[in-house]
Amino acid sequence: MDRLDTLRGPVPPRPHDARAIAALAANPGCERRAVLDAAGVDKDATAAHLGFPAPFGQSAFAITRGNAFEALVKENGCAELLRLLRDLLGLPVESAGYTDLGDMAGDPPAHRRHEHTRRLIDRSAAEADDDGTLYDHPLLRLEIAGHTAYLEPDVVAFRLGGAFHVVEVKSFAVVDGQAEPEKVAAAARQAAVYVLALRTMLEELGHDPLRVSHEIVLVCPENFANRPVATLVDVRRELAVLRRQLARMTRVGRIVDALPPGLTFDLAPGPDGAPARPVAELRDAVRRVDARYAPECLSTCDLCFFCRDEAAGRGSTELLGRQVRDALGGVATVDEALGLADGSIAPGEGQEEIARLLRLAGRVYAEAG
Ligand code: SF4
Repeated sequence: MDRLDTLRGPVPPRPHDARAIAALAANPGCERRAVLDAAGVDKDATAAHLGFPAPFGQSAFAITRGNAFEALVKENGCAELLRLLRDLLGLPVESAGYTDLGDMAGDPPAHRRHEHTRRLIDRSAAEADDDGTLYDHPLLRLEIAGHTAYLEPDVVAFRLGGAFHVVEVKSFAVVDGQAEPEKVAAAARQAAVYVLALRTMLEELGHDPLRVSHEIVLVCPENFANRPVATLVDVRRELAVLRRQLARMTRVGRIVDALPPGLTFDLAPGPDGAPARPVAELRDAVRRVDARYAPECLSTCDLCFFCRDEAAGRGSTELLGRQVRDALGGVATVDEALGLADGSIAPGEGQEEIARLLRLAGRVYAEAG
């Protein structure tokens, strides 16, 4: 891991939260992201120093609305949530218990809170009774390329029959039974991180990890009112991508070995507190690692504006989205695609079929226009 420390420079590794881990699954093919995350580089600070600050951050209104909705779902020992779970999972409200795992004296460090969660989940998993129990504020853990990430899901519900369901409370609205697909996908990716962390915990404790359901409970406000509605979301696909990406990060050594020796994304502060590294040097360092820009990066990765600018500079077909890029397989730039379409560029070896389709599309557009 020495090489990863050199890449990061003399600053502590950036801890991974569930949102950051979930985002790994959003663009699994990107080496740049895999290397920066494995080294624990602060991508937000990197993007800001490069002059392309990340577009994330919720408005104060959205944060207040989100907190108010979560408080509503959880008030009176999660009474409203129990009602929803009873309908969705067949959980008998009268027999469900409520345990606040965050309720510990003092302000214990994360590893002590995690141990507390482990003890109670272990006990709960060992009990064979059919009572439901809601665990609020559990602290879970995942190893990410040698670093420990502590994660706090909104709630874990223990269902009848011994299965655990992760519950994710989100404040985006479900209107007429539909929510914005991108927001549901992001929530599913985040919940998959919790499912994986809880499965890992059960496995370490000697229980069957598959007792943690791949169906998570997504709780959102319905029709812009604050009335919560719960839906089951299958996160198997997100789990598979996440596992692949985490395994890839532990094997990131192969990518790192191919990088120039001494390469670093060092952001150590100078006397004024700002990173001392000249911007041009940092830009060159970041560009040494291949990126795989896709429009999805705009909602998931701090470096999105930097990578988009880089892809635009190359006229890359990546800018048009994964589907178009994959359909144009082997055609690297928009100019090349246009040249193949109007016949001004002769197709290279293996490009005959895509050139034929582009010419056909060009003719259709010309006739329609
Ligand atoms: S924004 Fe850049 S570094 Fe991040 S995932 Fe996309 S291409 Fe990779």
